[in-house]
Amino acid sequence: MCGESCQIVRSHIPDGHNPPSMPIPSRFDPADPRLPERLWRWAVRWLSMGGEHTLHVGQRRKITQTNMAALIAMAATWVTSVLFWIHGNAALALGAWLNLPFIGLYPLVWWLNRQGKSYFACWALVLMAVTEVLVGVYCVQGTQLALHYFLLAFALMSPLLFPAYQWRSAALSFTVNVALFLYLDWHGVPAHAALAQIDAVGQALISKSAMAGCLILVVVLLNVSEYSAAVSEWRLQQQASSDLLTGLPNRLALREAFASELARRRRESSPLSFAMADIDFFKRVNDEWGHEAGDQALCHVAGILRAQVRAGELVSRMGGEEFGVILLADPEQAQRAAQRMCRAVEAAPFSYEGKTRTITISIGLAHLEPTEDQPSALRRADAALYQAKQQGRNRVVVA
Ligand code: GH3
Ligand code: MG
Ligand code: MG
Repeated sequence: MCGESCQIVRSHIPDGHNPPSMPIPSRFDPADPRLPERLWRWAVRWLSMGGEHTLHVGQRRKITQTNMAALIAMAATWVTSVLFWIHGNAALALGAWLNLPFIGLYPLVWWLNRQGKSYFACWALVLMAVTEVLVGVYCVQGTQLALHYFLLAFALMSPLLFPAYQWRSAALSFTVNVALFLYLDWHGVPAHAALAQIDAVGQALISKSAMAGCLILVVVLLNVSEYSAAVSEWRLQQQASSDLLTGLPNRLALREAFASELARRRRESSPLSFAMADIDFFKRVNDEWGHEAGDQALCHVAGILRAQVRAGELVSRMGGEEFGVILLADPEQAQRAAQRMCRAVEAAPFSYEGKTRTITISIGLAHLEPTEDQPSALRRADAALYQAKQQGRNRVVVA
């Protein structure tokens, strides 16, 4: 990939095709203006711990969600314990003590993910969370303070934690949690005797907090899941539509952009031209300076072409050393733009390992007829390019 110079130039193909990777700072500097962004990157990297063990995008997402759920569970347990201690009621204090081991156990989920054992990490999280709730219900709160509703939240969380191919585990976790919830809700479990010392308002507050906690847990995880699914989808789309070497949109993206431009043209009868550019004697660059130099020369030309078009126009790599350019221009403007591209490439010598050479391109230009379709425009531009090569290269021929 040739970096920032080769980015997408179309408004409807989002920028950041090749997001430059930002190094994580080795030390914490509070005065750094990019600190929030760096902290965010650090948090995302940390939460996706263990994702490096798989190439499967969906599974990576589940690993991040499991890490996140473990973090939420640990934080929620810690906050509840502190609040219970502060309250001072004997039953709540007992609950806080019983919660303590779980605060230490949840990091096991991250450790398992880090070891590449994401399946066990999911089960560890589910089992720890269920055990924590059961301990709370049977030893302290009973069913009267709605703690068992967390089992319903865990049931809903199951498909968010296990990848699709582990659907049996997700189904088992879902069923066990729902069954436990129904059993507890149906039979009821008495609360610890000391809990009766808390007045009705206090008890209502605890049970409402439990309900709110369930809701927040599910909503947060659902949103994280939806957001990370959208990001994965966007990344895959970018990869499928961009050329790995130059970072330009590839032939597929060109075809889609062309189709959408043709549809717009039918609506608005706006002018549209298509230029097909091909590097002259490119084989010689490879033969004389090596393939690596050839690759860099392609990036060099891609960067120049990209700089020559206006916002909304598209430069794509069609394959090999051929570029397709969609120009939102009438025949005259398009011809001037194509000439400008030829001159710009010729005027910017390509340097490689201290050596320099002039590179030129030939362009076949087709201005689209009102009812013309994409294959016909490409055919005409290709034929004009052939003519440009025949006539001596480094020139524009209009179809
Ligand atoms: P012409 O002026 O007629 O276009 O001559 P040319 O040498 O440019 O055309 P030809 O089709 O003979 O050669 C194209 C060369 O482009 C052959 C191929 O090795 C090279 N090429 C295609 N894709 C890549 C690539 O990704 N990297 C490198 N380094 N070379 C490539
Ligand atoms: Mg060529
Ligand atoms: Mg060629």
